[in-house]
Amino acid sequence: MGDFMEDNAKTFIIKGIGVSPGVSIGKVYLFNRTDIQTPFYKINEPVMVMAELDRFLDALHESETQLLDLKNKLVDSGGGMEPLYIIDVHIMIMRDRKFIDLTMQNIRAMSVNAEWAVRMTIEKYKEMFDRMDDDYLRGRISDIQHVGQRIINNLAGKKHVPTEMPEGVVIIAPDLSPADTAQMKIDKVLGFATDGGGKTSHTAIVARSMEIPAVVALETVTESVRMNDDIIIDGSSGVVIINPDPDILKRYEWKKKLYEKAQDDLLDYAALPAITKDHHRVAIGCNIEFVEEIPSAIHHGAEGIGLYRTEFIYINRQSLPDEEEHLANYRSVVGVEGLGWATIRTFDLGGDKFFPDKKGFHEMNPQLGMRAIRFCLKEKDLFKVQLRAILRASVYGELRIMFPMISGIEEIRQAKAILAEVKTELIAEGSSLGDDIETGIMIEIPSAVVIADQLAREVDFFSIGTNDLIQYTLAIDRINEQVSYLYEPLHPAVLRLIKSVVDAGHKAGIRVAMCGEMAGDPAYTMLLVGMGIDELSMHSLAIPRVKKIIRGITMREAESLLNEVMTISSSEEIRTFVGEEMHKHFPEDFSDTVV
Ligand code: PEP
Ligand code: MG
Repeated sequence: MGDFMEDNAKTFIIKGIGVSPGVSIGKVYLFNRTDIQTPFYKINEPVMVMAELDRFLDALHESETQLLDLKNKLVDSGGGMEPLYIIDVHIMIMRDRKFIDLTMQNIRAMSVNAEWAVRMTIEKYKEMFDRMDDDYLRGRISDIQHVGQRIINNLAGKKHVPTEMPEGVVIIAPDLSPADTAQMKIDKVLGFATDGGGKTSHTAIVARSMEIPAVVALETVTESVRMNDDIIIDGSSGVVIINPDPDILKRYEWKKKLYEKAQDDLLDYAALPAITKDHHRVAIGCNIEFVEEIPSAIHHGAEGIGLYRTEFIYINRQSLPDEEEHLANYRSVVGVEGLGWATIRTFDLGGDKFFPDKKGFHEMNPQLGMRAIRFCLKEKDLFKVQLRAILRASVYGELRIMFPMISGIEEIRQAKAILAEVKTELIAEGSSLGDDIETGIMIEIPSAVVIADQLAREVDFFSIGTNDLIQYTLAIDRINEQVSYLYEPLHPAVLRLIKSVVDAGHKAGIRVAMCGEMAGDPAYTMLLVGMGIDELSMHSLAIPRVKKIIRGITMREAESLLNEVMTISSSEEIRTFVGEEMHKHFPEDFSDTVV
């Protein structure tokens, strides 16, 4: 990333990762550059070491006070869209014994000034985070960096004075923390471009939920612009253009207009049901990782929450949430006005996914390791805390429980037995529970597909997790860029597996949903409808387009496309064929090239 693509006198283009689609054209506002040099000097006198430790503790205290003030201000102003809990996370890092001890140890053992000691602590954490396989987790180092930078600034006597942010600008920054975005009138920001970050960084999440175009991982954008430069952000293709020449500007003004028109037109579909021309209805769910995404889900036409990835509750935590914290969280997902149901997936945690207490356990193949339901069945007490909270939340609305990574019948039976045990305990304690809690499983391991007919007798619904199913079927690590060219939802083996799950589920009389990324890609919608899928659950922004496709076809057309596709043995040929068919049906949405 950060490729330098073109350079003439003024105009140049940098390529990064587009994390929030759309085009914005505006003036650069360079936000709070944090590239000040960290001073370094040796402290030789023992008494000076003591003074340095005090200096560090004072700065730590000052930093915490600033964040508490900021938090109070946000609470008073109604909180806006800011996830307040991330400010809590920053406060927690500042209070963390390990963070404090490590820094104090650096001052003592290395006899260095406090600024340098903080820098060393951040580096130590960075090494640890860099070793994590999970993209999201690796990205969370930015929280520790933000905290460290605040302390260093305070040590240097440089206060984080909230700057008066101009409106209608494109924000350029090394990376943005919640505390940074809290200072902005977010709804007046035109776009974001950052040196660091990834698809799940704070900038990306805020930008997507506010529908502001954003490009991250540009590496050098802060060095490449000056205040007030003209800039274009193309969040769909991940391109940033600085000082565009008049031709480029014209082209992008046109692209922006087209994009906005398409979005507006598409939003017309948000409120409509996903129903084919011959009256076959598909339920549309939204996938969420944070409760803050719910307003966007409703706005884009979700009918329910099809997948709540609860493991994200654990992000950045040193200690496990207790039952009441879980409950408070699930309460804001269940029974939300405008949403019919909430599918809460129990933690897909463990393996390469973060977990504060891994007991030094390292796995060679984390994707095949102690994760999800395996981990929960092993750590039964922890699992029970989550199940208790989920069950208690069921009084507030239609709730569905979903277990991830089921590979065989024993796992679902054990999970159900624990659920029953928890239910009995709660009833004995006098808790009231909802009366119609459905239980389902993710179908994302090939063995589960093969025995889907048997698994179907145990549950009320299936939800196909194509992200993992494709990974395990085609033997490609889904986070390994080297083999991503093999990641092919249209592989005939994948299509056959999906079809057999839908058929097995229907034969047993249960609903079959899909919540992997494949469900939100409009190129596959017609095929999936043809298979008879009952529910598609996806990222909120994808919903209007998928609804548009469903409303523009008949079940007969979808079935005949599927029948044809199932006779083709090459993924490439399937891709070309599906592309041509989609272009025929929706010439304005699909180009005549391959999908
Ligand atoms: C999947 O595997 O398709 C899925 C939806 O779950 P996750 O991406 O969280 O593994
Ligand atoms: Mg999965």
